[in-house]
Amino acid sequence: MILLLFGPPGCGKGTQATSLAEKFHIPAISTGEMFRAAVKAETEMGKRAKAIMQAGGLVGDDIVNGMVAERIAEADCKNGFLLDGYPRTVPQAQNFAGVLRTHGLPEPIVIHLDVPDSALVARLTARRQCPKCLKIYNLQSQPPRQAEVCDDDGTALLTRADDQESVIRDRLRAYAELTGPILNWYGPSHVHTVDGAQPPALVAVAIEKAVLAATTGK
Ligand code: AMP
Repeated sequence: MILLLFGPPGCGKGTQATSLAEKFHIPAISTGEMFRAAVKAETEMGKRAKAIMQAGGLVGDDIVNGMVAERIAEADCKNGFLLDGYPRTVPQAQNFAGVLRTHGLPEPIVIHLDVPDSALVARLTARRQCPKCLKIYNLQSQPPRQAEVCDDDGTALLTRADDQESVIRDRLRAYAELTGPILNWYGPSHVHTVDGAQPPALVAVAIEKAVLAATTGK
């Protein structure tokens, strides 16, 4: 089983990726995580990716395609895998389709977590951070005991620069511009859209249903 998970920033994709990987006994592969690990390990690829990532750009298709092809050839992927953060461009999707064909692997199941921008903005702008101990709070889901003050050291909480509404809206726009063409390329009949605004446990059930429908035709 090959799962591709698409969803906007703040939609809870990481949480779902982890629980799907456990449920279906497949590795969850995040290309963003792989790049962050390469940057940390200061590999050649990490050195090249670092500046691009810092500038908020995309690493070149050739590098990403090669990295994913190598990763999915590893033994733990023999029963399938989940990809999070790949493909990020239509050429990546085309290349990936070619890799799957070459290796006689099944077509991927494409899951799209759909959450209205308004819900994401509300969720992300509710984040606060303590500037002293860096603990993260969320005024909706994980509020501090006393309003806007850190539980641990009493410091006034701040909104991080990348959680400002204008920045969040830019990130959501960039996501929609990139992902829209990829979902179109796979085609509506191949994309399973799941309501990602529900509580996480219900999102997980909806994804599992979509996966079942895709694998058994039910
Ligand atoms: P993410 O954690 O998925 O947001 O990825 C972090 C960063 O890694 C991105 O901003 C890109 O610079 C890079 N990256 C991750 N996946 C890809 C990809 N499929 N294509 C190009 N760049 C990627």
